[in-house]
Amino acid sequence: MAEKDGKLQRIVLTGNPVSDGAVVARAYIYEPWEPDVLPTCFEPEKKQEKLDAFRRAAKQAKAELTRLAENLGPDFGDQAKIFLAHRELLDDEELMSETELAITEAFWEPDAAVEKVFTSFTEMLSQVDDPLIAARAADLQDVKKRLQRIYQGREEQNLSKLENDVILVARDLMPSDTAGLDRRHVKGIITEAGGTNSHSAILARSFQIPAISGVVNAVRIIPQNTLLALDAVKGQAILRPRQEEIDACVRSQNILLSRRRAQAQYLGRPGATRDGISIDLGINIGSCKFEASENYYDFIGLFRTEFLYMEGLCLPTEEEQLTAYTKVLEQANGKAVTLRTLDIGGDKNLPYMDLPREDNPFLGNRALRLCLSRPDIFQTQLRAALRASHRGKLQLMFPMVGGMEDIYRAKACVRAAMEQLDAKGIPYNPHIRIGIMIEIPSIALMADLAAAEVDFASVGSNDLTQYVSAADRMNPAVGPYYQNYSPAMLRLLETVFSAFTAQDKPISVCGEMAGDPKAAVLLTGLGARKLSMNPASLAGVKAALARVSLKEAQDLARQCLGMRTQKEILEHLSAFTAEAEV
Ligand code: PEP
Ligand code: MG
Repeated sequence: MAEKDGKLQRIVLTGNPVSDGAVVARAYIYEPWEPDVLPTCFEPEKKQEKLDAFRRAAKQAKAELTRLAENLGPDFGDQAKIFLAHRELLDDEELMSETELAITEAFWEPDAAVEKVFTSFTEMLSQVDDPLIAARAADLQDVKKRLQRIYQGREEQNLSKLENDVILVARDLMPSDTAGLDRRHVKGIITEAGGTNSHSAILARSFQIPAISGVVNAVRIIPQNTLLALDAVKGQAILRPRQEEIDACVRSQNILLSRRRAQAQYLGRPGATRDGISIDLGINIGSCKFEASENYYDFIGLFRTEFLYMEGLCLPTEEEQLTAYTKVLEQANGKAVTLRTLDIGGDKNLPYMDLPREDNPFLGNRALRLCLSRPDIFQTQLRAALRASHRGKLQLMFPMVGGMEDIYRAKACVRAAMEQLDAKGIPYNPHIRIGIMIEIPSIALMADLAAAEVDFASVGSNDLTQYVSAADRMNPAVGPYYQNYSPAMLRLLETVFSAFTAQDKPISVCGEMAGDPKAAVLLTGLGARKLSMNPASLAGVKAALARVSLKEAQDLARQCLGMRTQKEILEHLSAFTAEAEV
């Protein structure tokens, strides 16, 4: 909807609410630069001019890298080292003089010369079978892009250091973009892509940044720096809002904040229903730098280790992983830590791995499947996890398990890693608990067989919903088909909970549903006694559970199981929640 309002247009855009809240701020359009370099030559008489331009770009690249390293501060020493290593490449005599020769003797345009020379150096390095040298190849690619961007006169967009409060507007945000986000200044997020349970949505929720996704053409429509009123509860963003719309946004945020303050009173209490049935509440984390007081949670139900792989420019070594896992165990201070093995693929990519492109990546060689096909990567992670295992209560969990074969194969890999450690006399916990994620319908339907073979399981409702409903969790166009609360999901969840409970094996839910207060009550009624969520959701879930008795939650679940559509179920849940809040 577009409306004339004086000279400038007031425009209302709509999207899916993915993270609660409302905010008024200026737009920051994020369009990461992609190389667009043509293999062209220039007229020989321009030789000196082009050489000077290349040298200026190299000098500017060095200054940029120095600034980036300096800005990172002491907590990010490892990332700073990467920038400094990149700067060193710009001092590499062979590399730089070959590039200059390609400009002055072959008359290649400087960005094309960089493309040619850096690519041939990268190819040479990639052939060496040494992970450290292979990492230099990735560094070269990064420096190449930086030089080309500067030469073409484009500014770097860095989401980790912003000057003012902004609402970020992007086509899509990769988990690597959101992981380094400047949380002081990003006050809201609007994306064109991404479903309600995409990884960027999950991160926005965990940082409590109001966000909407699926906003068609947002990047094209919203000019840089325009004032926006984002209401992520209603799922709308207004460009150049009227004063009353700004006021409404502020009011809406104040209501949310006062609700959060009321819920915060529950934070220090244990998770339990009104009649004292204990519900273990865990947290989901993505790195060893998580913010949650150990007094507020019972266990770490999901440690998404892939973020460790996404931080750097090459695979983390066994020692680096050991350090990270040990830090998490230390911070958890004796509480169980569920380490999920590498879950890459789908919307989570590792650029340095150069994985083959797949037409349907969510149905492809991802997560455990990828690990089973890359024993080198899997064994390194398993050895690191096992070595950390005797320093705390570490348990292993495999993502994307589709059948019993996957469980047998994954367990055989753990045994192989144990044998490697035995051979070197390295200690580990030989009784480490092994669990699986239930996120593919096939294993959910065989939950009784799976329960007999593992020590525990956790339902990944984000992916389970995507596969049960055959709707891509990233694709806003099929958003209405992606139904966490469909009757099919509820039936499947009940089957899984009862199969595990019957065999006395712990079963939790660690998908986003677990952190939604109304879903937490429903899941409890369906049989879950363990829920794991973003730390930011703990207070709301504790408050919701404290308001209901187990019997009320079970009645609610039974009523929902008798319904025919998600719409009916959601209406019933909302009415119930509103009544319980009175
Ligand atoms: C899930 O699928 O529900 C889950 C917790 O894993 P992820 O969101 O990381 O795929
Ligand atoms: Mg998943």
